[in-house]
Amino acid sequence: RTVYVNGEYLPETEAKVSIFDRGFLMADGVYEVTSVLGGKLIDFGGHAARLERSLTELDMGCPVTMDELLAIHRELVKLNDIDEGMIYLQITRGAPGDRDFVFPDPETTKPTIVLFTQNKPGMANTPAAKVGLKVISIEDIRWGRRDIKTVQLLYPSMGKMMAKKAGADDAWLVEDGSVTEGTSNNAYIVKGGKIITRNLTKDILHGITRAAVLRFAREAQMEVEERPFTIEEAQAADEAFVTSASAFVMPVVEIDGAKIGTGTPGPVAVRLREIYLEESLKTAI
Ligand code: PMP
Repeated sequence: RTVYVNGEYLPETEAKVSIFDRGFLMADGVYEVTSVLGGKLIDFGGHAARLERSLTELDMGCPVTMDELLAIHRELVKLNDIDEGMIYLQITRGAPGDRDFVFPDPETTKPTIVLFTQNKPGMANTPAAKVGLKVISIEDIRWGRRDIKTVQLLYPSMGKMMAKKAGADDAWLVEDGSVTEGTSNNAYIVKGGKIITRNLTKDILHGITRAAVLRFAREAQMEVEERPFTIEEAQAADEAFVTSASAFVMPVVEIDGAKIGTGTPGPVAVRLREIYLEESLKTAI
């Protein structure tokens, strides 16, 4: 695999980052994951805009322009011959000479930028979408700025492990009695034809797939309500699903052992997955 590090395209075995990089020492960095379908980037504009917002919120500079970033994404797709898969992008605050809590001077310490591809042939047609996911609920003990897409992913990782141990696929995070989001996706339920998903605040990541799916749902005259919901309400819903750049729309069929609806992927989730895959390809670049 060819990867990109600070201006260079290199074989992955030759790519190097300093041990003093604040991404490594302090999780001081942000990331984006953009999916590739038919060799094209899905929702690149949305991911680039969120990246700029994450960087601004953390007072971090961007080492490349958005045009350069697009060119790097495309070059990696080409070099690694990706038809279906993902591109991971990470920008960290860089490597000052020593470890210090204080942010380094941006004049002397440049951010580190890394991109690599993940080849996932057949991703759009994954059998998992026909089966649906089982999720468990766990307490959301993450920090209070979940709207910034930082690389602090230890708790979401632990959540996935708790789900695996419980024989499930993923975890939904619960704070003050209501669901915030999944470990790496936004969470939805469907009741009486209405799509319900938590409103956007600092409590959750503002999913790029969420924005697109809600837009497509409204265009298809489906009713959407943005508000928090509880696990009990989800268990009594007709359907549940999650969205993310890498999973697109993925049905959820069980929450804490309780079957949702018939316990199989629901018609709204299945239709939204189809619409998303079709419509997002039209604006892929
Ligand atoms: N919430 C969290 C916590 C996530 O990690 C992700 C995926 N990175 C999402 C939601 C979905 O965001 P997107 O649709 O932009 O991938």
